[in-house]
Amino acid sequence: MSILVVGSGGREHALVWSLAKSPKADKIYCAPGNAGIGEIAECVPIKAMDFEGLLSFAKEKKIDLTVVGMDDPLVGGIVDVFEAEGLRVFGPRKNAAILEGSKAFSKELMKKYGIPTAAYETFSDPEEAEAYLETAKFPIVLKADGLALGKGVLICADKAEALEGVGTIMRRKQFGEAGAKMVVEEFMTGREVSVLSFCDGKTLRPMTSAQDHKRAGDGDTGLNTGGMGTFSPSPFYTEEVDRFCHEHIYQKTVEAMRSEGRPFVGVIYFGLMLTADGPKVLEYNCRFGDPEAQVVLPRMENDLVDVIEACIDGTLDQTELVFADNAAVCVVLASGGYPVHYEKGYPIEGLESLKGRDDVVVFHAGTARDPEGRIVTSGGRVLGVVGLGKTLKEARATAYDAVPSVTFKDAFCRKDIGKAIDEA
Ligand code: AMP
Repeated sequence: MSILVVGSGGREHALVWSLAKSPKADKIYCAPGNAGIGEIAECVPIKAMDFEGLLSFAKEKKIDLTVVGMDDPLVGGIVDVFEAEGLRVFGPRKNAAILEGSKAFSKELMKKYGIPTAAYETFSDPEEAEAYLETAKFPIVLKADGLALGKGVLICADKAEALEGVGTIMRRKQFGEAGAKMVVEEFMTGREVSVLSFCDGKTLRPMTSAQDHKRAGDGDTGLNTGGMGTFSPSPFYTEEVDRFCHEHIYQKTVEAMRSEGRPFVGVIYFGLMLTADGPKVLEYNCRFGDPEAQVVLPRMENDLVDVIEACIDGTLDQTELVFADNAAVCVVLASGGYPVHYEKGYPIEGLESLKGRDDVVVFHAGTARDPEGRIVTSGGRVLGVVGLGKTLKEARATAYDAVPSVTFKDAFCRKDIGKAIDEA
C-alpha cells in the first residue's frame, strides 16, 4: 500500500521508520519530511497545514493510508477533510482532537467524569483571573487554553509572578489566541510519566511508558523546550500504577469522549504525574509525543500498519501490543541557542558512522539538504540519538557513546538524560 505521513520532526522520522518495516508498506511519502526521512521515504514539499495540497496529493498518488503526526493539523481538522473525501486517515477528528486543543475542555471533561487531575479554575477575563490570584495558594500553574508549542504553561512561585503570567498569557497574548482563555491549576509534585496509547474510539491499548525531559539545561534548569530527551520504560511506572491508570484514567477517558459524542480514534498521550495521592493527569495530547515516539516505537514488536488499521476499523480489541523486553534512551542534539535564537544551515558530520548499528538509531528532526546535497541543520532540535540496550543503563551508555560521533557547529545536548534511572 501507499502511505503518506504528515509532519517533519523526529516523531515523524520514527513513524516512517516503523511503517517502513511493515511488509504492507510498498511506498511511503512524507510531507514535508526532513533529510533523514528522505533516505527511507519520498519527501514532498507540502506543508502540514496545507490541507488542500495534501488532499490533492493523496488523491493523485492514490494514497491508501495517511498518518498525521503533528498536533496543529489534527486540531485544525485535517482528518475531517480527508474523511469527507472518502480517504483513510489515522488521527482524531477535530471534535476529538480538542482533547489537546483546549485545556479548558480537557479539564472540564476530567471533572465531569471523575478522572484524577489537579484542581483548577478557568478564566476568559484577565481581571477575574487577577482577582482570583489575590487569595490563591502558591506556587500555582497558569496554562494558556490552546496550542502553544508546549510553552504555554507557567509555574509561578508567588503572586507577583502569577500576575505577571496573566499579563503574558491573557493581556499581551504572547501565545496568541491560545491565551484567550486560561486555566489556573493547583501545583502538584511527583514524578512525571508519559503513556502513549492507541485508541479505536472504544478500546484503548497503552504502549510502554516513557519519560520526557522538557527543560533545556541539565538538572531541569533553563527554558521549556519541545523535549531534550526521553527514556523508556519508566521504572516508576509500576504494575500498581498501571492498574490504577487503567481503572481510573485510561478507559474512563475513552468512555468520556464517547459519551460526549466525540469518539477518539488515534493516539492519546497521557501526561501523568505520580503524586502522593496517586497518579493524576497533567495533560492530554492527541498524537504521539516527540521525542517519546523515538523511544517507544523502536521497542514495539507489532506491525505499525496493522495496529493503525485496527484503530481505524474499530477492531483494536483483537490486537495485543507487544513490546521488547529492552530499554531505549534518546538524547536530543540541538542547535546552540535553542529554544530562543539559533542559526541554521550548519553541515552535520558523522551520520554515516552510526548507520547499520542495531543498538543505535538516529532520528532526524530539524535537518535538510543544502543545494550541494549535504545534510545541514534546519531547526532547533536537530537529531535524536537513540541507544537501545537490555537495561536502561545500558541504553543510556550506548546513546551517550554514540552522541560524539555526530557533530555540527554549536551543537549541544543535555548530559543528564535518564538521570532518574539511578534513583529507581
Ligand atoms: P503540560 O503542557 O500541561 O503538560 O505542562 C507542561 C509541564 O508543566 C508538565 O510536564 C509539568 O512539568 C508542568 N506542569 C503542568 N501542570 C502542572 C501542575 N499542575 N503542577 C506541577 N507541574 C505542572
